[in-house]
Amino acid sequence: MPRNHDIAELRRLDVAHHLPAQADWAEIEKLGGSRIITHAEGCTIVDGDGHRILDGMAGLWCVNVGYGREELVEAAAAQMRELPFYNTFFKTATPPTVTLAAKIAQLTGGRLPHIFFNASGSEANDTVFRMVRHYWKLKGEPKRTVFISRWNAYHGSTVAGVSLGGMKAMHAQGDLPIPGVEHVRQPYFYGEGQGMTEEEFCDACVAAIEDKILEVGPENCAAFIGEPVQGAGGVIIPPKGYWPKVEAVVRKYGLLLVADEVICGFGRTGKMWGHETMGFTPDLMPMAKGLSSGYLPISATAVASHVVDVLKTGGDFVHGFTYSGHPVAAAVALKNIEIIEREGLVERTGSITGPHLAKALATLDDHPLVGETRSIGLLGAVEIVADKETRARFGGAEGTAGPMARDACIANGLMVRGIRDSLVMCPPLVIATEQIDEMVAIIRKSLDEVMPKLR
Ligand code: PLP
Repeated sequence: MPRNHDIAELRRLDVAHHLPAQADWAEIEKLGGSRIITHAEGCTIVDGDGHRILDGMAGLWCVNVGYGREELVEAAAAQMRELPFYNTFFKTATPPTVTLAAKIAQLTGGRLPHIFFNASGSEANDTVFRMVRHYWKLKGEPKRTVFISRWNAYHGSTVAGVSLGGMKAMHAQGDLPIPGVEHVRQPYFYGEGQGMTEEEFCDACVAAIEDKILEVGPENCAAFIGEPVQGAGGVIIPPKGYWPKVEAVVRKYGLLLVADEVICGFGRTGKMWGHETMGFTPDLMPMAKGLSSGYLPISATAVASHVVDVLKTGGDFVHGFTYSGHPVAAAVALKNIEIIEREGLVERTGSITGPHLAKALATLDDHPLVGETRSIGLLGAVEIVADKETRARFGGAEGTAGPMARDACIANGLMVRGIRDSLVMCPPLVIATEQIDEMVAIIRKSLDEVMPKLR
């Protein structure tokens, strides 16, 4: 049973003392505090005022097995009783840590069999950053330090994460990126491919990567990093054939290839990994979120043997976090993976709920505000435009319609994100087809409501 909370007092304390993440604190103060989420079950979250909200975002792209899983609670409690903490610094490891490493290795099909643990997706990318540069030094090519990434990519909120990411607003705070990160255009066909066929646009995006490698000098390039499908950038699904072509260019010049699977991993796109859906094979693979379905913070960086073999020639890899391989988080992740496998959630996403979401979203295509709907697995987006023909945005610039439509959706009982002028969604993998229909009905109703305010 949910506990009784003094919500008014919590909101007062929130304003007085809490600095929420990625937020405008002055705005939250004006609103009288954050929305306090008190409990959740299945795919539904409940706030302090008793509003029941269908969670179209799986928390923050992570609660893949849904809320209220007693098995995960039990796994955490059992491990806490046995061994609540031990580290992996002192030539030590714990049973769940090692077992989870072996399990992840198996899930990569043996292609990335070495696992370094962290507590967040950002740390997993920091680990990539240091591993890759260290690798090239040990390999005798110390000039290979430059990472190539895409504008509008999201790789986390630490200094390396923000630098690898391509979010200009984040770069502006903290004088980032750090030296040695270069960005190229993103494969956002709807937003940036006007006047081209999808194939022409795809080739232009791949050519931009090759041009950048040649500009920097292949001998200076360390790795290319990308999300198989950009999540926080607005669910940007690359054109067909993009990733195999990117892989060919990256291999041609000898760079390492990094697939940031923090959102795409663990079934989100309908296969276990986003890179499987997209048809390429990375050398390093950060993952987080779906690894524990967000029940506890844990992330991992999976690494190919040919990289680890070189790293093993360098003595200590002087990198690690107190919570690297946290036994309780690892025990919960193991149980979470067991649930994903037992309930066939990856296959279900690929063959039932993913196609259902695509079909349901397509029913919105006739709406006057909808420029495009797109989805892959259980990642979806609705582009809101003022003019379907020209793809012009409301107010002449992006960023008005998306947040407005998002607020309407939340008021109507659906949690989605408004990224620039699109609504994006990423529901738990356990969502029922009826709940997908409900999501889409709420989006239509919300678009109808905001239309007169936008026009
Ligand atoms: N990489 C990707 C693709 C992400 O979407 C995120 C978070 O949304 C991160 C990295 C950072 O993960 P975290 O917030 O756990 O540090």
